[in-house]
Parts: sequence; C-alpha cells; structure tokens
Amino acid sequence: MADYEILIVGGGPAGYTAALYAARAGRKTAVVEKLSPGGQMATTSVIDNYPGFPDGVDGFELGEKMEAQARKYGAETIYADVTGADLTADPKVVRTSEGDFTAGAVILATGAYPRELGLPGESQLRGRGVAYCAACDGMMYKGKVVAVNGGGNTAVEDALHLSRLCKKVYLIHRRDSLRASAVYHKALEEAGVEILWNSRVTALRQEGRLTGVELEDVRTGEKRELACDGLFVAIGRVPDTALFAGQVDTDPAGYLVADESCRTSVPGVFAAGDARTKALRQVITAAADGANAAHWADDYLLRQG
Ligand SMILES: Cc1cc2nc3c(=O)[nH]c(=O)nc-3n(C[C@H](O)[C@H](O)[C@H](O)COP(=O)(O)OP(=O)(O)OC[C@H]3O[C@@H](n4cnc5c(N)ncnc54)[C@H](O)[C@@H]3O)c2cc1C
Repeated sequence: MADYEILIVGGGPAGYTAALYAARAGRKTAVVEKLSPGGQMATTSVIDNYPGFPDGVDGFELGEKMEAQARKYGAETIYADVTGADLTADPKVVRTSEGDFTAGAVILATGAYPRELGLPGESQLRGRGVAYCAACDGMMYKGKVVAVNGGGNTAVEDALHLSRLCKKVYLIHRRDSLRASAVYHKALEEAGVEILWNSRVTALRQEGRLTGVELEDVRTGEKRELACDGLFVAIGRVPDTALFAGQVDTDPAGYLVADESCRTSVPGVFAAGDARTKALRQVITAAADGANAAHWADDYLLRQG
C-alpha cells in the first residue's frame, strides 16, 4: 500500500490548495516542500489582487494560512527537498532528502521563478524599485516613471499594463526590433511607450531604492543614465521542472504540458500552478489549478479502484 493517496510536490498556493481539496475529499494527502509554505508569494509583502482582501494581504501570511487550512482537514507537510521521482511506477515514487515516499497520484506544483538580470544589488532592490511582474506590482508605481526590460510578448504586455498607470514608460530592448507579435507594435505607439532600442541595463542606481539604471548601447558600447522609479525585468521565467522533464511532457520552455484538467502525459500525474503551460501565472490561477488537480487526481484514484 502506498504511503499517501495523493502526494503534492511544492507548497505554494497551487500545492496547498490541492492539499486542501484532496484532504477534504477524504484522501490521505501530503505536501513535500523544501522551504516554507507560500512559494513565490511568500517573498512579497503585499498581494493586492487576491480576492477577499480589500486591504491586501502579506504573501508570507497568506502562505501560512493556506498551510493551516489544509492541515485542519488532515493534509500533512513533509519538509524535504524532492530530488527525483519515478512517476510511472505503481505506486508512484517521490524521492526526497528525507527518504522515498509512495503515492497513488502525484501533483507537481513546483512553480517557476523570474529570470534575473544578474546585476549587483538586484536582489536587495527587489520590492524597492526592481520588480518582475507588472500585474502584481504595477499599482505601486502609479504616477511614476518606470522602465521595462525585455522584448518578448510579456515585456510588451507589461509595458502596456504600466502605461495605463504610470506617468512615463520606457521599454528597454537589446535588439533593433521586437520579438513580440506585430499586433503589439501599434498598441505600444498609441500608449506612448518609448522604446530604447539596442540597449541593455548594465548597472542599477540606488539610494535605498532604485533611482535609475545605467544603459549601454550594444552597438557602440556607449553608456548613459536613465532615471526611473521602477525597473520591471521581463526577460523570461524559468519553470522549476527539470527534475521531471524526462518523464512528463514539457513545452520548449520547460513548462509541464497540461490543460485546465491539470492532467499531464503520465496517467495519475498532474501539474498545477506556475509550472504548468498557461497564459496567466498568478496566485489565483495557481490556487484554481490546485483545486482542479485535486479533483482530477481524486477521479483518477476512483477509476483505479
Ligand atoms: C516577487 C513576486 C511578487 C508576486 N506578487 C504577486 C501578486 O501580487 N499577485 C499574484 O497573484 N501573484 C503574484 N506573484 C506570482 C505568484 O506568487 C505565483 O504565480 C504563485 O506563487 C505560483 O504558485 P505555485 O504554487 O504554482 O508556485 P510557487 O509559488 O512557485 O511555489 C512552488 C513551491 O514549490 C517548492 N519546490 C520547488 N521545487 C521543489 C523541490 N524540488 N522539492 C520541494 N519543494 C519544491 C518551492 O519551494 C515553492 O514553495 C508574485 C511573484 C513574485 C516572485
């Protein structure tokens, strides 16, 4: 007999919502989490767009509450680093720093993280002028001057989103044309976004918070300063899925391929939250995935008999 009916890898909003639904469906459930509950949202002091909290909610506190709510219905947390898995075995095996665990169904909810510029001071300025998600942090820069770094669809969507809030938006791009779909080009022009072509950010300027960036012209090497209150880094996200890549189908960027049912290419293995192929990666969409994944994992176990 397996150790658990449903084992969830990752204790962010997707993982703990899956745990809540799985435990409330009467399934013996555990979450394996290597850090503390909450995942990425635990790194932000305020979440303003999760419904039910009109004054916003501290991300770390929301993570702890999600864990407590799942625990109330019997879901366990195993604090361990998942180091491997055999997802086609019966029962499925999840290997961790605290030993191996078996389960009838596994939900992968390991999330994703934004790719950083890798510049000195970047991590200290996170939340103090350096941001990675316009939908999350844009409101903090209402009426201010911001720059978005990137040239893909996400960067352009972020620039357009910010143009509706901010006094001035720059788009910093290292090439002389955008990778983003052509449909966006006109929208950028209409929104008054100023594109700084052939430019890359080479240093962050700060006085406790970000005050501007140093830009380099990639063709001439010439440097110049750009004053801004915020820098939104939109150079891609990295899904935390490498551990499962050989066993479960992934898209070219490494996201676990699954639709809204969260079913992956392996029967009994589900993908929820930021690690899954989807358009919008937010707390609410991660939580929604967790509920769906638990529902379909329960359905899978029922059919197994
Ligand atoms: C700075 C910041 C601010 C944000 N602000 C907002 C906001 O205001 N509103 C909003 O809606 N969204 C916001 N987001 C996005 C939101 O946090 C994510 O969309 C959401 O957390 C994704 O949830 P998830 O459960 O899929 O993954 P994650 O939150 O990434 O959680 C994944 C969990 O899996 C664990 N894990 C990974 N690998 C392993 C392993 N091998 N073994 C064990 N555990 C593992 C990680 O430690 C982590 O706890 C923000 C993100 C960031 C980074």
